[in-house]
Amino acid sequence: MAKSRKLRTADVLVIGAGLAGLRTADILARAGKEVFVVEARDRVGGRTLTREIRGEQVDLGAQWLGPTQHRARTLAEELGLALFPTPAIGRTLMELGEHRGTFEGTIPALPFLSLLDLQQALWRIERRIGRVPTRAPWSDAQALELDAQTVESLKQHYAKTDGVKAALDVMVRVVFGAEPSEISALFFLHYLATGGGLQAEVEVEGGAQQDRIVGGAQQLSEGLAARLGDRVVLDAAVHAVQWGEEGVRLDTAAGPFRGTQLVVAVPPTLAGRIRWEPKLPPDRDHLHMRMPMGSTTKCFAFYERPFWRARGLSGEAMADQGPLSYVVDNSQSDGSAPALLGFMVGGPSRRWQRRSEAERRDAVLAQLARMFGEPALAPVHYEEMRWDDEGWTGGCPIGLMAPGVLTQLGPALTRPVGPIHWAGTETATEWAGHMEGALESAERVVQEVLSL
Ligand SMILES: Cc1cc2nc3c(=O)[nH]c(=O)nc-3n(C[C@H](O)[C@H](O)[C@H](O)COP(=O)(O)OP(=O)(O)OC[C@H]3O[C@@H](n4cnc5c(N)ncnc54)[C@H](O)[C@@H]3O)c2cc1C
Repeated sequence: MAKSRKLRTADVLVIGAGLAGLRTADILARAGKEVFVVEARDRVGGRTLTREIRGEQVDLGAQWLGPTQHRARTLAEELGLALFPTPAIGRTLMELGEHRGTFEGTIPALPFLSLLDLQQALWRIERRIGRVPTRAPWSDAQALELDAQTVESLKQHYAKTDGVKAALDVMVRVVFGAEPSEISALFFLHYLATGGGLQAEVEVEGGAQQDRIVGGAQQLSEGLAARLGDRVVLDAAVHAVQWGEEGVRLDTAAGPFRGTQLVVAVPPTLAGRIRWEPKLPPDRDHLHMRMPMGSTTKCFAFYERPFWRARGLSGEAMADQGPLSYVVDNSQSDGSAPALLGFMVGGPSRRWQRRSEAERRDAVLAQLARMFGEPALAPVHYEEMRWDDEGWTGGCPIGLMAPGVLTQLGPALTRPVGPIHWAGTETATEWAGHMEGALESAERVVQEVLSL
């Protein structure tokens, strides 16, 4: 990975060594193409990041795989990685407005009228999601109408009771790292449609939170990078791209690269920080300006013992009053390193990032103690990961669209510009926003590149 100022050339250059970029290069290399992946950071994996904490591998970024995320599961298998189920034995805690309680299974502890409201709201949302065309959401019969609304107005339309509105607020914060008032209703419905619906997105068993990878999710990226060897160049932030009919030239922190085609596998807003010469077409340029990242801080509290289990609690909790919106048992596969993982997301994440780390820690532990009991105040270790501080990601988990963006600029997400092709989880039509979506985007972009 030595730095060199010499011009390096390949058939295809890939910007970004996250799962999308690495998988793209992996398939292209197997198809006989010369490739280079240029990565800004000193590591591969992007939004997957596994760190050793107290002798255990802990995922500070993406961590869960669902049962229908076949590409990611197959890759894990290919790389010899085992999966284990998210611990989910015991009662789930809920603090939604004035409703506080615990429940087992999937029916929350809400009053009867709120439960009816919830059932009906979920049924109507699920039914609407089922009608969104995942490959071209802008062609939905009500696309313009839906894209003129926020998820907040959709919520007011579908939910009648305060408890259900609060539950939807929590769900939106956790999934998007944003408030319902920030996101287009069409973007929201399409995002969920790509994963098979709302239940598939939010459930643990049978849903996107079902399994974790023993040893951590970054191993998926590391395994792909190992296959590619020195075709992955780290510490190579791309500052400028010159493009034209004859191909592309990249100016990077590790020297210049030239290629016939280019795959950009970074979140759209980060692509906007690259200098494009000549300028990109206006719709693509505007897309870069109009897909801000969500805000997510992952907070880990490690304990001597999983004391919540002895109290009959699963460790899973949701709350509409922060700082944490969602909490899960994050212990290791063998039950070692007992830990609670809390998600500070959307508005609460942005608000609490203005406070000191010590204040955040105190507030998080106080909330965990309120929910799970006094022992939560005395972790053996506390760790937080603020994705908004990561310059080469800019926030998490994904790039978002406010009203008007998907119908006006959506087609530009994947439309090639001369020799430039666009990958990354934001472009996926299956499990967009997830590791699976990043892998799917790689398959689509490889087809584009190879068909030229
Ligand atoms: C906190 C968090 C929790 C998540 N939880 C889950 C989960 O449980 N399950 C799940 O499936 N998904 C989850 N996700 C989402 C998942 O991580 C992403 O969908 C996926 O990893 C995105 O991969 P990507 O390759 O599209 O983008 P990225 O991983 O963002 O890769 C882009 C790469 O481009 C690099 N880059 C950016 N700009 C430049 C530049 N100018 N020059 C060179 N390189 C550049 C970046 O450093 C990065 O390595 C989570 C994400 C976060 C952050």
